[in-house]
Amino acid sequence: MDSNYNEIIENAYNFTKPIKDKGKLATYIPELANVNPSNFGVHMTKVDGTSFGIGDHLEKFSIQSISKVLSLALAVKFLGEDIWTRIDVEPSGTKFDSLLLLETYNGIPRNPFVNSGAIVICDILISHLENARQEFLEFVRDLSGIPDLNYSDKIADSEKATGFRNVALCNFIKSLGNIKNDPAVVLDFYFDMCSLEMNCQQLSHTFSFLANGGCKLKDGKEIITSSQAKRINALMLTCGFYDESGEFAFKVGLPGKSGVGGGIVALYPNNFTIAVWSPKLNANGNSYKGMKLLETVTTHSEMSIF
Ligand code: GLU
Repeated sequence: MDSNYNEIIENAYNFTKPIKDKGKLATYIPELANVNPSNFGVHMTKVDGTSFGIGDHLEKFSIQSISKVLSLALAVKFLGEDIWTRIDVEPSGTKFDSLLLLETYNGIPRNPFVNSGAIVICDILISHLENARQEFLEFVRDLSGIPDLNYSDKIADSEKATGFRNVALCNFIKSLGNIKNDPAVVLDFYFDMCSLEMNCQQLSHTFSFLANGGCKLKDGKEIITSSQAKRINALMLTCGFYDESGEFAFKVGLPGKSGVGGGIVALYPNNFTIAVWSPKLNANGNSYKGMKLLETVTTHSEMSIF
């Protein structure tokens, strides 16, 4: 890697680390609160294969909603354009677990990254795969190059015991005809999918196919077409940060996706993927320091898609 990049990341990390963290841990999934709140790490992977990380970049965390990009990639791979008859591609302008717009739009979620949209994606995968839970895991293992990558039963069980809003969402969509399978089976897969654990290094490697025209960096294997990758990147830019996607585009200027575990992955097509983790979240559910670090990186490197 260009040593300039190492320096930009290192400087951004050192600049952001001492800033007072005004965020709060997500506690609505009780197990997510069992994490050291001061963890902070970042890792960048360039499309030339070089990479650089600093801080707690090798410590695993719950990637939560970041997994929604990967389930979308798998669904798009199987369904192509048909997928967009079940889910829209518009920012929701509401909270990630909101039920509000489902009534207005007849059970069609606004986009695949709000919970309702990701739940419909899980339903689609269950309809098209023999064992969606296992095949999704194998898909991510292949992308990440981590053969023993796994779901966290602890996190999944914690959410299964408390995820009443997701239960409501899934049943509501079912009542409107956009869930085809048993809601209990769909939810079970959804909670497992959200429980995947990775560290920043693994996350930035895993997402590099989206910075590389849909092809894996390691062996050039096509995962999705370049046009499909472009669409997923567009969705990350417009819908990847809950009700703060505009702010992220404004301040950071890259497509990305965050999760309530405090992880964020962002990418600059044909250049790099960057993953950051700091568990305390701002009022919109995005990592407080993660956003600050990415803003610092793109400001100093002048690398933004705009
Ligand atoms: N499993 C979480 C939920 O459904 C994911 C939320 C997120 O990371 O945005 O509430």
